[in-house]
Amino acid sequence: MDRPDPTSPTCSRAASFPDDDHFHDECGVFGVYNHPDASALTALGLHALQHRGQEAAGIVTFNGGTFHSHRAFGSVGDNFNSEAVINRLDGDVAIGHVRYSTSGGTAMRNIQPLFADLVFGGFAIAHNGNLTNARTRRHELVESGCIFQSTSDTETILHMIATSDYRKVLDRLIDALKRIQGAYSLVALTRNKLLGVRDPYGVRPLVIGRIGDAYVLASETCALDIIGATYERDVEPGEIVVISREGIQSLKPFSPRPPRFCIFEYIYFARPDSVIEGRNVYAVRKRIGQELARESHVDADMVVPVPDSGVPAAIGYAEASGVPFDLGIIRSHYMGRTFIQPHDTIRHLGVKLKHNANRAWIKGKRLVLVDDSIVRGTTSVKIVEMMRAAGAAEVHMRISSPPTTHPCFYGIDTPHQDQLMAHRMTVEEMAKHIGVDSLAFISHDGMYRAVGEESRNAECPQYCDACFTGAYPISLVDQEGNPGPAQLTLLSEA
Ligand code: AMP
Repeated sequence: MDRPDPTSPTCSRAASFPDDDHFHDECGVFGVYNHPDASALTALGLHALQHRGQEAAGIVTFNGGTFHSHRAFGSVGDNFNSEAVINRLDGDVAIGHVRYSTSGGTAMRNIQPLFADLVFGGFAIAHNGNLTNARTRRHELVESGCIFQSTSDTETILHMIATSDYRKVLDRLIDALKRIQGAYSLVALTRNKLLGVRDPYGVRPLVIGRIGDAYVLASETCALDIIGATYERDVEPGEIVVISREGIQSLKPFSPRPPRFCIFEYIYFARPDSVIEGRNVYAVRKRIGQELARESHVDADMVVPVPDSGVPAAIGYAEASGVPFDLGIIRSHYMGRTFIQPHDTIRHLGVKLKHNANRAWIKGKRLVLVDDSIVRGTTSVKIVEMMRAAGAAEVHMRISSPPTTHPCFYGIDTPHQDQLMAHRMTVEEMAKHIGVDSLAFISHDGMYRAVGEESRNAECPQYCDACFTGAYPISLVDQEGNPGPAQLTLLSEA
């Protein structure tokens, strides 16, 4: 399926955040240093990262004297499409952000990059991920007198930098980062530096690129491709890269931890043309499809992807099974998103409007439907109904991720656990509910084989797979304590 409708005012919230007023972002970040067209390159980079967040976009630049900012709701194309905007964002350094959040009415103040005039000068920051102790830290900061303007985790980092006892920017940043927990890939801008950081577990991606004499930071390599930048390397888990007139410097201030990159980035979230940890995302998705075919073969006439996210795995499935791949479902690209809508009725309507059965091909055929995940199950129910109504003889469903049994607290928006179909039902019950002749998910080991591992290491998993296993590598501090209410949640803005 495609991605959620971020404009929905009552988007679903991550599970178990009881009075949850903060945001669980699926975001993309970008930064460029030392390029005369910094803002234009950043707009292009963000455009390539648009799949990571469609609710809002922002860019902050610095021209040696002044910081400039433009932040707005909507897509990059809608907001950074005029010469006037790009030219006003003057300077040869820039950072940018695209966000998807579970936003309420006060979200304008949460659009990133956030900027503050700190004791050492201007500082802009943009974040992809989710902090697991942000509310706890925020409560402490509020108690000590900090006045928060937004409900974003990122502002907590900003206040911790502002209130650090250290003098130098980098020492303040490290001090702040040592006191936060969670998943984060950050880009930040000071008066003379572009900074990039990945959390010690490296849950979210961040890569370094070059274009001429300029340095680029981006969530994914597809954002380097769009501007013709070359990929240098990934920022390593726990690494801070400092880009300045002196070149690039690498700091590793944290005690090393076993890396836990988010495996769901490979399955669904990242763009298929991106390369992560040296692996092409599309190739991984195809390999998952091949594994699925080996693990749960079924005699069929046609492999049908649920577009768009099921396509690479369906191609892999078809290759390995010898069953022909065909487009049995046609997707309209002119519709809004279906995943998160305020009411079930609208969600259902959305699916119908967006997908249509390719009847002439489906009638009388035994189908293997391939999708990347089942979350609430809404999509699967409607798609299967559609296939039956179009005359499919049999409908078998194959899912290129293991059952999603747990919510993500590290930056991928998921519903409350009790809304996760795989949490509430066995695979057999799910198959019955969805109305398929058979249902199978990739096994944990199969998924690990697709990313080049022999199997999942149960003692110390090579990836963060908490949404499929409940093995959360980073402690969920805010879930355990009760840090009290956050500020400003009831202040509405026009
Ligand atoms: P559901 O209809 O609730 O079962 O959602 C499953 C569909 O949503 C799948 O087809 C996925 O492509 C898509 N999906 C899975 N995870 C997410 C996510 N975190 N955000 C948006 N869409 C998602």
